[in-house]
Amino acid sequence: MLETKTIGLGQNGREAEDRGAAESAFRLSVSEGIARLVFDLPGKKVNVLSSTVMEELDGLIGPLALRRDVRCLVIESGKPGVFIAGADLREFEAITDSRTAERMSAAGQEIYNRIADLPFPTIAVIDGAAAGGGLELALACDYRLATDNPRTQLSLPETTLGLLPGWGGTYRLPRLIGLIQALQLILTGKAVDGVQAARIRLADACYPSSFIRDKTEEFVRAILAPAGRRAVQGRRKRKRLSRRLAEGTPIGRAIVFGRARAGLATKGGKHYPGLEAALQVLRKTVHASRARALEAERRAIGLLLPTSVCKNLVRLYFAREAVKKSASPRDGGPPRTISRAAVLGAGTMGGRIAWLFTRNDTPVVLKDLSWDAVRKGYASAYEVYRELKKRRRYDERQINLKMHRLSGAVDYVGLGRPDFVVEAVFENLEVKKKVLAEVEAHIGPEAILASNTSSLSITDLAAGLRHPERFLGLHFFNPPNLMPLVEIVPGPRTGEQTIRDTASLALALGKTPIVVRDRPGFLVNRLLMPYLTESTRLVDEGCDYRKVDRLLQDFGLPMGAFALLDEIGIDIAIEVAGILGSSYGGRMEPPALFAALEGRRDLLGRKSGRGFYVYSGKSKSPNPEMLELAAKRRRQGESPDRFDIVHRPILAMLNEAARALEEGAVASAQELDLALVLGVGFPPFRGGILRYADELGLRRVRDTLARFAGQLGDRFAPAPLIEKLAAGGEGFYPAH
Ligand code: NAD
Repeated sequence: MLETKTIGLGQNGREAEDRGAAESAFRLSVSEGIARLVFDLPGKKVNVLSSTVMEELDGLIGPLALRRDVRCLVIESGKPGVFIAGADLREFEAITDSRTAERMSAAGQEIYNRIADLPFPTIAVIDGAAAGGGLELALACDYRLATDNPRTQLSLPETTLGLLPGWGGTYRLPRLIGLIQALQLILTGKAVDGVQAARIRLADACYPSSFIRDKTEEFVRAILAPAGRRAVQGRRKRKRLSRRLAEGTPIGRAIVFGRARAGLATKGGKHYPGLEAALQVLRKTVHASRARALEAERRAIGLLLPTSVCKNLVRLYFAREAVKKSASPRDGGPPRTISRAAVLGAGTMGGRIAWLFTRNDTPVVLKDLSWDAVRKGYASAYEVYRELKKRRRYDERQINLKMHRLSGAVDYVGLGRPDFVVEAVFENLEVKKKVLAEVEAHIGPEAILASNTSSLSITDLAAGLRHPERFLGLHFFNPPNLMPLVEIVPGPRTGEQTIRDTASLALALGKTPIVVRDRPGFLVNRLLMPYLTESTRLVDEGCDYRKVDRLLQDFGLPMGAFALLDEIGIDIAIEVAGILGSSYGGRMEPPALFAALEGRRDLLGRKSGRGFYVYSGKSKSPNPEMLELAAKRRRQGESPDRFDIVHRPILAMLNEAARALEEGAVASAQELDLALVLGVGFPPFRGGILRYADELGLRRVRDTLARFAGQLGDRFAPAPLIEKLAAGGEGFYPAH
């Protein structure tokens, strides 16, 4: 427990205490019977709940419970935009056994029980992010007030880390907001804002952030009177009536849990044990006493926290945080704020890249060759908002404000003076070079110029520019509004400041930027291609592509290689395979099936409605024509077993990853793993492809590659780095 100092002030019947020691995480004061506990972790931007902080909190709650002069406790945060970000995950990372995990859970549960049992009303004031253990603390209070601050986001993201809420969340949440909503929050880990929180009764009210102090005082006065308390309780009850039918009967509950389980199955839930555990704990404890419910919850934590799934997910979380930190370094001055942007080309990518700027409230001009093209780009940006409106993320008024940030142009004069230009015109070197030279002549000397090319060399594009130091590649993935990754590709003369400013912009646009070298396919497409071509070779040899897809999904990928080919567009994949094949040779040579599909405009994948699958609305089924085409290729011979079907594509990708890492195409194993998870959905619970290789063991990886090379050809010859690590008994990551 940290040393604290208590100052008692007696003044006109008012009394206050202040815990003022520099190290204290909390400031407690009491005035006119109202205790205020302000969580403000010294020297940190956010509040997190470490074991030291929890102990300190405990030390404050005990004495408060005994005070007769306190009539109400208000818990708030001293950090702008953050209530409490959650538990300290560094401590989770260090826990490797069930007993310690259970003890950690029990300690938090007890402290929160003591808050819940305080003899006077308790109110959490949430004017910023309240995640995980932070929201569980708020749940232990009698009342929660939220604000309309966009940073007020309430979430229980534990299942996304392979866990479940372990400080009473599984017990308190369903009792407060009902089973259906609780399952929704816990199983998706998604956040709700203040308005939504009030709508689902997670918060008792949502107030404008600027009035929250006055509103809190008003609320306190109200609930200190019996009538006010009854009014709040009444509001909660009204909601409960409408839930009764679905949740109040055994049959209703069975349906609710059945649906939730079916939902998990379609989302690869079996790989995330936290989801199944959360479902089971909620099912078992829905009518249990607090003691029994909490026991089930901490048992589950004991089982989940030490697993490799949980460790991998926590590590990826830290990898993402590290990338964010390095994209906004403290030294070297603050990155430039981008206050005006332009996007050249209003096609598939351009319209949605422009949308990203509007969401960020940055004025952006979308330029194309004709007004008709600009209009299509504008419509695609609006379409993203329309989708979000359906999910109640935005209302019409907000969308109008956002769309006002977007304007169009068909010439360079119309661009105004942007600070940042994203070029997203046709993928053609001559066209792009011409466009870049033209735009450079029209923008200020400070503006950054970024190309969204996916296959052209940044070095080639930079040649001929007057300011190559302010030019680089900024590779968004399709669809750019949803895909969380961007690759930042500096050219040979790109300035450090340009890289930093672009990384900082990418973060502001909600993306995770990873800096990669200017090699064909950059990083992600380079690693993806051997995976796709090897999957297709399996079909060349007579494997059923439906089976390949099924097994890859079982491995944990969000979709199989052939469903992915349909998404990418079979024509695009064939074209990129040609480009990368000519750069990397046999490792990426296009398979025979690609040649058979070349020029088939009717079989392009999702965009033509038919590819390996047939698409109709939201459903898809195998395409009989493609099955027949694939069946014709059937050769005799032994068919590969399940392990080989999965590991030929996966190890082809891994072998390329090892080469990329050794070449310095990406800074670290951690960044490579993160890029593949965010860029292609490599199963997060496996921690990334290099982490997966470490788990298999590099000797086994090398031996399997050598076996494949013997059977299938040199493309599987183990990368030198794999040979080296296997020989030294090492992995891509240092052993723990
Ligand atoms: P697209 O063909 O859909 O759109 C290109 C747009 O650029 C067209 O509207 C065209 O009229 C316009 N254009 C052409 N010349 C122009 C000029 N001089 N000035 C302004 N506009 C001009 O292409 P896309 O799929 O959006 O791709 C754009 C870029 O993004 C390409 O470099 C591509 O490699 C890259 N990219 C595409 C994807 C993808 O999946 N589509 C993914 C990542 C990166």
